Amino acid sequence: MHGVSLTRVILHGFSDASKLAVSIAAYAVTTYIAAPVQQRLLVAKSRIAPKDQSIPRLELVAAHTLSRLMHHVKEVLKGERVEEYHCWVDSTTVLYWIKGQGTWSQFVRNRTKAIQDKEYLQWHHVPTADNPSDQGSRGMAPSKMGELWFRGPEWLRTQEEWPDQPEVTENSENRKERIKPKHEKQLLVKVKEETNETRDTLLSKYASYWKLLRVTVFLKRFIHNCRNHKKYKGPLMTEELHAAEKFWIIQGQATVSRADVGLKKDEEGILRCVGRVPHYHPVFLPRNSKQLASLIVQQVHEQMLHGGVSITMCRMREKYWIPKLRSLAKTVIHNCNVCKRYLKKPI
Ligand SMILES: [Zn+2]
Repeated sequence: MHGVSLTRVILHGFSDASKLAVSIAAYAVTTYIAAPVQQRLLVAKSRIAPKDQSIPRLELVAAHTLSRLMHHVKEVLKGERVEEYHCWVDSTTVLYWIKGQGTWSQFVRNRTKAIQDKEYLQWHHVPTADNPSDQGSRGMAPSKMGELWFRGPEWLRTQEEWPDQPEVTENSENRKERIKPKHEKQLLVKVKEETNETRDTLLSKYASYWKLLRVTVFLKRFIHNCRNHKKYKGPLMTEELHAAEKFWIIQGQATVSRADVGLKKDEEGILRCVGRVPHYHPVFLPRNSKQLASLIVQQVHEQMLHGGVSITMCRMREKYWIPKLRSLAKTVIHNCNVCKRYLKKPI
């Protein structure tokens, strides 16, 4: 390949929250032999902040969302030369929670644990003025965002210039979330949380299958553009979307044992059902790929103009085979916000 000059990639994530919005952004710093270091925005996301939460809690929500985005990026860039994953927040309270010990309210505990589980993430403090996500959480229009937004802080590329780290200690803000240990009750809660945690896959933060595919394409483009002179730019192409789709389907099928009867890998490595019906070989999606399956069902349901269970299932089966599809389709349609809001059946 031509791109042999790429030596390494370091990823940096930033998060911030205001009462208005939660905002995160990830940057890649790429080092080449005999070429200037490059830094650029990889992915950014902003969403409306959950209501009635304190600022430290919102900051924690932002950091948690960032940890999941970084995990997603890590999955997609698997096998690439990403050497380090750094996360930057401007809240010392959040850093205290992430680094500290102690017993915190369930809200703090759940998110902190999920963050700590991703051990490869290194957390740091960033002054607010240097936090690009601060612009996102204040709701600034993209056109008004400058260099900081598109490239991240100038100092990212030189570790010696990284900001000094403040001492992270207990203070009145983070202490508010401290609870007195109630042993028995806590133990029960803990068991429940852990089972939730395993179900909480990285897919769940994407509101739609389309968004998931789009972000995946951008990440794949980034890898490609790092290595090749011919750069991908402009609108997404069908082949790129197809490749992203294939990537997620293969991930979703990872747990399926090869010995499963009636399944066969096609030339692209995708497991398909081979039944008695000639020329009908739908893509198999196991039940434990539920998040992916739900996203696809939701997509099809929308394509069918928010059609009911039967029509959604019919369309699904043209391409996919999912065990217990009916109950999944029911759940997805039941939870569809558009249907809830506009399509309530008259009595
Ligand atoms: Zn709907």
